[in-house]
Amino acid sequence: MLTVLRIGHRPQRDKRITTHVALVARAFGADGLVLVGDDPAIASAVDGVAERFGGDFQVTAVKGYRRSMKEWDGPVVHLTMYGEQLDDVVDSLRGKDVMIVVGAEKVPGDVYELSDHNIAVGNQPHSEVAALAVFLDRLFKGKELEKDFDGPMKVVPSARGKVVVEK
Ligand code: SAM
Repeated sequence: MLTVLRIGHRPQRDKRITTHVALVARAFGADGLVLVGDDPAIASAVDGVAERFGGDFQVTAVKGYRRSMKEWDGPVVHLTMYGEQLDDVVDSLRGKDVMIVVGAEKVPGDVYELSDHNIAVGNQPHSEVAALAVFLDRLFKGKELEKDFDGPMKVVPSARGKVVVEK
């Protein structure tokens, strides 16, 4: 079980990027997204994708991050440019139930303490979407891209054009 905990979401500003966090989580092998805050638009956008393309990815909402992090039964990893290098830690996480925490703007200080690992995807500032994608890709060693979502619509890889088959 792999869950992404999205903290710091601001409905006025972050709708698109949080939706991308959720879509990347789903496409790269996570089972669900826990959104801190209330924004039904995120779940509805992701549900629309899952209805067409399959899988059972779930978006749930919680009021605060602390309880979710404390109650998670497995390693909690916080993706941050200030953390340890990903390649030094990732092997120890394979096969475990991992909660992956990603921030938005400024991450509260106690997130660093509540996490079992603070992990950097390089020590330069970039994006939660990129950090999550690279983290999951390293965790799964690229195999997540072969996952069959068994949805009503399936894309057939094609050198040109769009080929989609419907069940
Ligand atoms: N400046 C903010 C801070 O100090 O917490 C971070 C803002 S960044 C736009 C949003 C999120 O992207 C971060 O909370 C983190 O989860 C992720 N992120 C950005 N760069 C990263 C990196 N090099 N490694 C891991 N995660 C990163």
